[in-house]
Amino acid sequence: MNKFEQLGLNESLLKAILDLGFENPSEVQEKAIPLLLEKDTDMVALAQTGTGKTAAFGFPLIQKIDADNRNTQALVLSPTRELCLQITNELKNYSKYEKGINVVAVYGGASITEQAREIKRGAQIIVATPGRMQDMINRGLVNIKNIDYCILDEADEMLNMGFYEDIVSILSDTPDQKNTWLFSATMPQEVARIAKQFMSEPVEITVGAKNSGSATVSHEFYLVNARDRYEALKRLADANPDIFSVVFCRTKRDTQAVAEKLIEDGYSAAALHGDLSQAQRDGVMKSFRGRQIQMLVATDVAARGIDVDNITHVVNYQLPDEIETYNHRSGRTGRAGKLGTSIVIVTKSELRKISSIERIIKQKFEEKSIPSGIEICEIQLLHLANKIKDTEVDHEIDNYLPAINNVLEGLSKEELIKKMVSVEFNRFIAYYKKNRDISSQAGERRERSDSEPREFNNNGAVRYFVNIGSRDNFDWMTLKDYLKETLDLGRDDVFKVDVKEGFSFFNTDPEHTEKVMEVLNNVQLEGRRINVEISKNDGGGRRDHNGRSGGGRSSGGPRREGGGSFGPRREGSGGGGFRSDRNSAPREGGFRSDRNSSAPKREGGFRSSAPRSEGGSDRAPRRSESFGDSPRPRRPRRD
Ligand code: ADP
Ligand code: MG
Repeated sequence: MNKFEQLGLNESLLKAILDLGFENPSEVQEKAIPLLLEKDTDMVALAQTGTGKTAAFGFPLIQKIDADNRNTQALVLSPTRELCLQITNELKNYSKYEKGINVVAVYGGASITEQAREIKRGAQIIVATPGRMQDMINRGLVNIKNIDYCILDEADEMLNMGFYEDIVSILSDTPDQKNTWLFSATMPQEVARIAKQFMSEPVEITVGAKNSGSATVSHEFYLVNARDRYEALKRLADANPDIFSVVFCRTKRDTQAVAEKLIEDGYSAAALHGDLSQAQRDGVMKSFRGRQIQMLVATDVAARGIDVDNITHVVNYQLPDEIETYNHRSGRTGRAGKLGTSIVIVTKSELRKISSIERIIKQKFEEKSIPSGIEICEIQLLHLANKIKDTEVDHEIDNYLPAINNVLEGLSKEELIKKMVSVEFNRFIAYYKKNRDISSQAGERRERSDSEPREFNNNGAVRYFVNIGSRDNFDWMTLKDYLKETLDLGRDDVFKVDVKEGFSFFNTDPEHTEKVMEVLNNVQLEGRRINVEISKNDGGGRRDHNGRSGGGRSSGGPRREGGGSFGPRREGSGGGGFRSDRNSAPREGGFRSDRNSSAPKREGGFRSSAPRSEGGSDRAPRRSESFGDSPRPRRPRRD
């Protein structure tokens, strides 16, 4: 016997619950449902967002409604149109095997006469926003004088939004002997006041600690300089390729600006704020729900009541003015038992706010640093590999395979993998190579080096690219010896030698750089000029780099511009110029068109159809010891 059956719910509801896929009642449901079914009582139920409050009142409500009576018997007040529609929809789902129950949603921004008409046809349950409800009452379009149940859902948010007066006025239009059920995540004074004023001896249910943040949400902050906020946001998104998030800004203007920038930079983002028309907001929410939008940039007001499952991250692009608001924000993630992360991008001057929030949520923040370019590249690389692995093959493709095989003929599996991965990976590596890292607790900002791409290899060593490799009968030992001899360097002066087929990498300390460049660039090997360059590279193999002088654009083949095969690009343009250097040699020229201090363009491949993991597997993998050499499949053997 499943646990829902023990709560006293009838057959038709149990059947609907089966369809919904709920296996066990949540805690608030387990506590509230039997009480509400058994007795006619007022109730105050406090439970975090995402704990299933809708069903906690919805199931008993449906069961208690008299379906044969067409009069309005229940009013559910909820803060936003969004929630209003959602609750209506849920109630319809709950009652789908119960004949004759009609639920009507009443909210602003839609035709009031149409809503009135629907009610007239017989609606036992009205789900309404306070503003529109008040409007309807004023115009005499609705009669709630005989209702049996009034539910105040998300009461704290309603009051937060300034609906106190409306609520009071609406409640005074209802009969005294009705039952009032108040559901809320928190119990601020105003909610307590409503409860005291309009409820009689309510049973109180509390799930989890009052006022504390949901245990399924972990809180992190990233300290950055104010001007790096946006860059930090992008990096966090890049470091979480499957991010599905709400990004909170303080003002409508910032919201719009951040969303626009993200879109421009190729992310699937959208803005949600009060200056949008209702139709626009609906469109945005639909895309967000459908997961065509990965980052919903929103104001607090617009995001109230956003109730979308599986949000992986809440990002506080800016902290809210009122610290209490933080709770509402972070409650958008970690719902229904899923894990979520609430991120704060914070500047030094705001740091003390973090401690205040910690006191309120009774949870500690973890301080983290913005991932470095190398880490992001590695994450993206692994992500891409996984994505390829998980991609389901649509057999429509079979028709094209002969032609494709023709094109790719002669490539080894290894080469093919490199190339495939490079298609998408190159833009990240190209971007992050020339952008400094931005963690701020590391002290002062590093010198900007716009003209000079930042070296990836740390420890102060310089990494070089040289156009000789195994094809020239070198392995790492012999190349090392050759370099030492040619450059007249000591035993350990050349290190991390990594030999590829047509080219190699090696390191020296910076003091030898001048010599390396001078000498090696003037040496010939079997009649061929050696070409050495300081590598902007991290770990070879990703370029089509045959290294032949004058070459560089070797076997890359006719790729589509913007060539990602992993999802349709969002914008037809955009990526082109940015990617054009991806097949060229890593010489200075390759970086000339530094128009792009903007983000690496992303594929728009984030679609509802894409196989998405539920979060866990996409956590950032640990950065490996030396990314500089890590994608190398194997060390050259010494024999
Ligand atoms: P709240 O109002 O407390 O914020 P909701 O009622 O909106 O939470 O529920 C959050 C999510 O959890 C919804 O997607 C809902 O379908 C789901 N849910 C609710 N109850 C259960 C349950 N018993 N088992 C599984 N999922 C549930
Ligand atoms: Mg709710």
